[in-house]
Amino acid sequence: MITGVLERYKDYLPVTDKTPIFTLGEGDTPLVKSASVAREVGCDELYFKLESCNPTGSFKDRGMVVAVAKALEEGGDTIVCASTGNTSASAAAYGARCGLSTIIFVPKDYVARGKLAQAITYGARIMLIDGGFDDALRLVREIADKHPVVLVNSLNPYRLQGQKTAAFEIVQDLGGAPAHLFIPVGNAGNITAYWMGFQEAHRMEWTGAMPRMMGFEASGAAAIVKGRPIESPDTIASAIRVGNPASWKKAVRARDESGGVIDAVTDDEIMEAYTMMARQEGIFCEPASAASVAGLLKLARGGMRLNDGKVVCVITGSGLKDPDTAVTVEPAFMEEYPADIDAIEDAMGLA
Ligand SMILES: *Cc1c(COP(=O)(O)O)cnc(C)c1O
Repeated sequence: MITGVLERYKDYLPVTDKTPIFTLGEGDTPLVKSASVAREVGCDELYFKLESCNPTGSFKDRGMVVAVAKALEEGGDTIVCASTGNTSASAAAYGARCGLSTIIFVPKDYVARGKLAQAITYGARIMLIDGGFDDALRLVREIADKHPVVLVNSLNPYRLQGQKTAAFEIVQDLGGAPAHLFIPVGNAGNITAYWMGFQEAHRMEWTGAMPRMMGFEASGAAAIVKGRPIESPDTIASAIRVGNPASWKKAVRARDESGGVIDAVTDDEIMEAYTMMARQEGIFCEPASAASVAGLLKLARGGMRLNDGKVVCVITGSGLKDPDTAVTVEPAFMEEYPADIDAIEDAMGLA
């Protein structure tokens, strides 16, 4: 039986005796040891934290279960969010589970089909906004300020509370924090949540060590790296296509307090890591998730030594989320044959 984030971590979350406890099976995700990328980057102990194994296919479920539980506790009946996809899929799933009305603001031109398919099927109300993600977020914040609806974007503090539990699991699985944590950065909520989780784990003496937080933006959406908001963010990695990260300052603090870095990777580097993960590790992640692996490859190739401690790459979401990108990859082999045994044997060299 899966206990879920609320039950398993209730002592470490803002859960009271009035908070409803439920789960769709989020959390407790696998930490899988790398075979091939580990050799490539010269790291003896590299692990992938497969957040793609959450119920809707991304880490967003960890935070959403807490945000929705608190919305119910506070008597809410409607949740709203702006999303390029994964937040909407998660909100729609937990909203459906709890009988809440879910309204999703989606930037009209920038949504990955796999993700919208989830929100549609879970029955959310979808409002397509003629603008970018930042417009959708601005509008939804204003709506939540003026009206009795609950905002479940990562500005909702309960989201980050739930997301920090991934850091707890890594500490528990490894018997302490890794030396480095590589993570993609979009709105910068997740890097903030992991740092909060590691800090709490340290305070509770679950770990003596603390990781350096290694965050990676896409180079076409690298506001933090460039030190200014990006007017029209552009990257193949839709989940990190964010021009003005909501948790910008907190992410910078996580970087500085941990002695880490926030750097950028190009779409080519992201796609290289994306295909490498699938073909050499058997892990089909979404392009945004590949940004953490691309960052690891970039730093290793730049001469960073990684063989004196454990390294974790957070695989934030599933490759099935974005079939449009997947089908742009050159097939390793794909040819057409007549439905004829002789032709097939011939082609396979078995004649
Ligand atoms: C949301 C998301 C991100 C970015 O996380 P932030 O908290 O916005 O930095 C990265 N990858 C995936 C798959 C996501 O869903």
